Amino acid sequence: MDIIPVPAFTDNYIWLVHDQPSGETAVVDPGDAQPVLAEAERRGWTITQIWNTHWHPDHTGGNVALKQATGARVSGPENDRIPARDVPLSEGSELRIGEHVGRVIEVPGHTLDHLALIFDEERVAFVGDALFAMGCGRLFEGTPEQMYASLQRLTELPAETRLYCAHEYTLANARFAHHSEPQNEAITARLEQVRALRDEGKITLPTDVAIERGTNPFVRASNAQEFARLRREKDSFRS
Ligand SMILES: [Zn+2]
Repeated sequence: MDIIPVPAFTDNYIWLVHDQPSGETAVVDPGDAQPVLAEAERRGWTITQIWNTHWHPDHTGGNVALKQATGARVSGPENDRIPARDVPLSEGSELRIGEHVGRVIEVPGHTLDHLALIFDEERVAFVGDALFAMGCGRLFEGTPEQMYASLQRLTELPAETRLYCAHEYTLANARFAHHSEPQNEAITARLEQVRALRDEGKITLPTDVAIERGTNPFVRASNAQEFARLRREKDSFRS
């Protein structure tokens, strides 16, 4: 399974998932069709599936155009805000690309319909806007309790599981993480790494479960109340 980022808008990543044996390519959260089609063409890949983690337009805005251009099958949360959806997904649903089998878990908080797509054997998870490197999504629809439980669930995956997030927010998150845990050496070291990567215009993703357990204050919060306090603080934090 090859996984390639396609940058979109100012800070989104749309992930292309290619399975060589079957020739299948899935696209995760295509907010925009054009950059996805351009990258697929450059690589000689044909988009056969679209997977959405949640309804926000910067994750679904390219569904219709991509489906029209490629005939791809659209799988996403079970609500009427997913454009052109063919296959409804919910807790326990299965996804397949070639021989790879993924499973769906519900991770509400950023939105109520938010899903994560997990390929256990490959140690890969697409987490949309639920978890970010050193951060998490804003609470637009869900409660702190829901989001805290969702983050715990994601970081109970095996330590080496790679987490593919949908935005390049890592540097701002790292600054907040350092502010909230100034004595945490893993956070300080990662802030420097991330700063160096971003200075060179490089991507900071994917992250993994072990790294987030060590450096993500929202994951490290000891309960939903502490999580809620951090989330409120981050919402008004100016680095
Ligand atoms: Zn979102």
